[in-house]
Amino acid sequence: MNICEICQKNQANIHLTKDDGITQEICRDCFNEFASKKMGIDLAPFESGIYEYPDKNGKIHRFRINKMVLPVGIGYEALEITKNNSPGYKVAILDDIDCDQDYLFFKLEAKIKYTLSKKYLKTGTYPNGMKYTGLKDDEVVGRFEYSEVNDELHNVVIDGKVFSWKQLGRILSAYEGFQFKLKIYDITDDVH
Ligand SMILES: [Zn+2]
Repeated sequence: MNICEICQKNQANIHLTKDDGITQEICRDCFNEFASKKMGIDLAPFESGIYEYPDKNGKIHRFRINKMVLPVGIGYEALEITKNNSPGYKVAILDDIDCDQDYLFFKLEAKIKYTLSKKYLKTGTYPNGMKYTGLKDDEVVGRFEYSEVNDELHNVVIDGKVFSWKQLGRILSAYEGFQFKLKIYDITDDVH
């Protein structure tokens, strides 16, 4: 693990090549500092780190939250920390560079709480005793994730859990003869 060359505190995960050609390994917070000065925007104080939110069953979900100063705007990204590092919930939000950054964080937290409260899958048992996973309300929202065992098909993350494309197919097998609509959204969009 490389330590940030500027603050000497956080983990460095950004390679920054400055105008003079010098490259530095720095952390997200120090990059934000650098980028906001260059773009001439005031950066509201924010500490990247671990934040916890309960779902509706009271289970605590831990997220690593980073603020991001990007050429297209200011955003926050919350990535769930899971036991075995398998992909969990990911919530992100983006607004213009002149937005109210504290309010944007408030909106991120609201989005995290909504995401944790909304479930698309249900599990049940067939009369023969076999267990199944199905859609709760004939709709599903998730995100694509790279699959390490199959580079042709993505995995999907639904309700904070990873499924293979084949498993998703099995979940949808109850809908033979029905129509469906598949639409792609940016990770920062609201999908309701
Ligand atoms: Zn730093």
